[in-house]
Amino acid sequence: TSRFEGVTMAPPDPILGVSEAFRADNSEMKLNLGVGAYRTEELQPYVLNVVKKAENLMLERGENKEYLPIEGLAAFNKVTAELLFGAGNPVIEQQRVATVQGLSGTGSLRLAAALIERYFPGAKVLISSPTWGNHKNIFNDARVPWSEYRYYDPKTVGLDFDGMISDIKAAPEGSFVLLHGCAHNPTGIDPTPEQWEKIADVIQEKNHIPFFDVAYQGFASGSLDADASSVRLFAARGMELLVAQSYSKNLGLYAERIGAINVVCSSADAAARVKSQLKRIARPMYSNPPIHGARIVANVVGDPALFNEWKEEMELMAGRIKNVRQKLFDSLSAKDKCGKDWSFILKQIGMFSFTGLSKVQSENMTNKWHVYMTKDGRISLAGLSLAKCEYLADAIIDSFH
Ligand code: PLP
Repeated sequence: TSRFEGVTMAPPDPILGVSEAFRADNSEMKLNLGVGAYRTEELQPYVLNVVKKAENLMLERGENKEYLPIEGLAAFNKVTAELLFGAGNPVIEQQRVATVQGLSGTGSLRLAAALIERYFPGAKVLISSPTWGNHKNIFNDARVPWSEYRYYDPKTVGLDFDGMISDIKAAPEGSFVLLHGCAHNPTGIDPTPEQWEKIADVIQEKNHIPFFDVAYQGFASGSLDADASSVRLFAARGMELLVAQSYSKNLGLYAERIGAINVVCSSADAAARVKSQLKRIARPMYSNPPIHGARIVANVVGDPALFNEWKEEMELMAGRIKNVRQKLFDSLSAKDKCGKDWSFILKQIGMFSFTGLSKVQSENMTNKWHVYMTKDGRISLAGLSLAKCEYLADAIIDSFH
């Protein structure tokens, strides 16, 4: 008998498990709308041209593979904060941001969770209901208590703004409020600028600390600045806040694991101390971060020509998703004989659409139609082509009825 007899089989991951099931399906019609990764119209993975150019530059320069400092590549940390807050933002000028390179969005969230566990014992993190599935795992593993605030209203397939505000108000003073900077995952529903102001009001009133997860900057609207406006609005109020960033989607660097945690403090002195503690947390966890993705980001963002080319490629990706969104809406509206209002699809933003399909209906999508998706009814439009919209519309209508 094994000494590991007591180790039980873990359930498959609800998101990555979908891809495993997809690979095992031999149907020609199969469609993977589970994982949030961009595909071309031919449904192939896409490496951005600017990434290839940056990698060529790196090869030409013959750069070495020495260890990075614990906090990551200095050139990366500089540009990533500037991209987020805007170069010249007072929080940067006044050196009030502690920026540490992280293992993409997930690893950066995990660092922040460890900081909260260590320095804010008992403080709760409020997360939206629903949210990206991994948020709960991250806080559970970091032993940070969390609870949910209302976010999604199934009746309107829109934002439950009043519920959200009253839940944030009702939370214990000094809680952390996790907010999706743009392109909320899984719903694709974002607050309006006016609503963001009201959210900031209650967070300030209650002395809460905003904690942004920014995994889609530039990918939601096609504009890096527009997608960072929520974060900048809070920073402009002089609030202290945390922001986790990811370059998985907007630069297509999924497997490079490149992102950052930024902690905006009220003084340069506090920022320096926070940064020193983030490094102390990172050191025994993974020692120091990988260099390749950090160099790519630093090269692309730091070079005006590559930066402009990146923006064009991002608009292209965001544009393809918008086209697919429109075509899916058109197909559903044309085919559905029940007069259901499908306009929520057009109102949602980013990679995903929250269809409102129940667990059983989502299972019908997979079992009968070979459409792989998460059981919460979320589909990734990034994995859909114009050519497959009609088929998907048939599958959705069949599953709803
Ligand atoms: N946060 C949200 C809301 C996400 O949707 C994702 C990816 O799907 C992430 C964070 C982190 O992704 P990664 O760790 O690949 O950067």
